[in-house]
Amino acid sequence: MSAPMSPKQAMAAVRGVYAELAARPPARACTGVADCCRFRLTGRTPYLTLGEALVAAAAWRAAGRAGLLPAVDGACPFLGGSGRCQIYEGRPFGCRTHFCAAAGGPYPRHEVRAWIQTLEQIDHQLGGHGGVNLPTAVAQAMTVVTRKNRN
Ligand code: SF4
Repeated sequence: MSAPMSPKQAMAAVRGVYAELAARPPARACTGVADCCRFRLTGRTPYLTLGEALVAAAAWRAAGRAGLLPAVDGACPFLGGSGRCQIYEGRPFGCRTHFCAAAGGPYPRHEVRAWIQTLEQIDHQLGGHGGVNLPTAVAQAMTVVTRKNRN
């Protein structure tokens, strides 16, 4: 059984996964239209492990935001009016690997399996229960990040 992890340790480990991914990005051609951030349009909502949700919530807090904005038209609550992700550096793993067909499609599962397993392990060590849909996961993580900032 793995040892428990603090939120701080977990966020560092998740950021390590993101850094490894950024160092070996498969070729994709995202044009930044952000259609993939409009969940009602795609019919798909990203699922986040607890560590990913903490990193996303911390990025939102670092941008000076406290509560989450209500999602407009079924879009991600982090999608800004300009069509840009407002937590780009802290965006979840799925946002880094699940590209639309026009951009080249999602990364093949076998290419990202090891990272997914690491994220799942971090989730387990944090006492999480697996992937949770983005709006719910981040709302829950905001309470942890806010509490941590108060302490
Ligand atoms: S976190 Fe950012 S990249 Fe991911 S769906 Fe939301 S706006 Fe898009």
